[in-house]
Amino acid sequence: MSSTPMVTTGLIGGSSIVRSLSPAMHNAAFAFYGLDECYALWPTEASALAGRVVALREGRLRGANVTIPHKAAVLPLVDVLGEEPDVRALDACNTIVRHDDGTLLGLNTDVPGFLRALGAAGFDPRGADVVLLGAGGAARAVAWGLAHAGIRSLAVANRSIAPAEALLALLRRYAPAPRATAIAPESPDLASAMGRATLLVNATPIGADDQASPIPLDLLHPDLFVSDLLYRSTPLLRAAIERGARGQDGLEMLVQQGALAFEAWANRPAPVDDMRQAAQATRDGEMKGPS
Ligand code: NAP
Repeated sequence: MSSTPMVTTGLIGGSSIVRSLSPAMHNAAFAFYGLDECYALWPTEASALAGRVVALREGRLRGANVTIPHKAAVLPLVDVLGEEPDVRALDACNTIVRHDDGTLLGLNTDVPGFLRALGAAGFDPRGADVVLLGAGGAARAVAWGLAHAGIRSLAVANRSIAPAEALLALLRRYAPAPRATAIAPESPDLASAMGRATLLVNATPIGADDQASPIPLDLLHPDLFVSDLLYRSTPLLRAAIERGARGQDGLEMLVQQGALAFEAWANRPAPVDDMRQAAQATRDGEMKGPS
């Protein structure tokens, strides 16, 4: 192996991607196969996005991941959009695959990544009554996946009502419709929805500071499965476990969406255990801080 692996993949996003766990995860996958390749971070301003995507067409790049704030803006910059899930309807692409002829395919692996993560934890969403906190890009992917997976009802609680209504409109138009409502987080409707819920998903950043919870903790009960999309244990998750509920942080979704991206780029099975271990080790090292 040469001393400098060739960059073949990377992450296009805003300046916050410097903390991404994706390089560790994908570099572990390349190492598993003995490929002398690596994954780079490409912080990109909106004005430079088109140029960044054009550059993917050339050379020996396999493709890229895309994260906030560019998941919607890349859609018109690629040649073909995935249909399962429907990237155009979702208006969010998190993976670009470069074909041999230089054409670019835009996929969304967040949706199946989320469902696979639930499956890995042994939770079957069919028939579930769901409370979804947040209505941003991640919440859209979660709602899309859950609606297609046959949940019974969905209550979307978001601090601003317009994005929650837009999410419901998306489901009405494109997804098998569960009973879906938008509720204000501070209204009594949240307590009723939580009383019925069997699945709670946190798709807001609240809890990233390891201090705050997105909902009052006394709404948690033992019949819940709590999926917090943050990549770490949070006050919400810890309180849920203390109350006898089951739960999962967002690392598994990250690993599963990354595994699907790797398979699309490399056309071979992702070494999921190695990828998970690398992401976990990097996360745990960062949480300890520099020594
Ligand atoms: P986004 O598009 O910016 O959406 C953020 C959502 O959180 C919006 O609904 C926003 O409400 C709400 N929100 C933000 N700050 C808030 C606050 N202080 N109080 C109440 N609500 C607040 O972000 P995203 O891409 O959906 O990501 C959301 C979270 O999921 C992030 O923590 C991200 O790290 C995580 N995530 C994890 C994975 C994974 O693989 N595990 C994948 C994607 C995202 P408004 O509509 O009112 O602004």
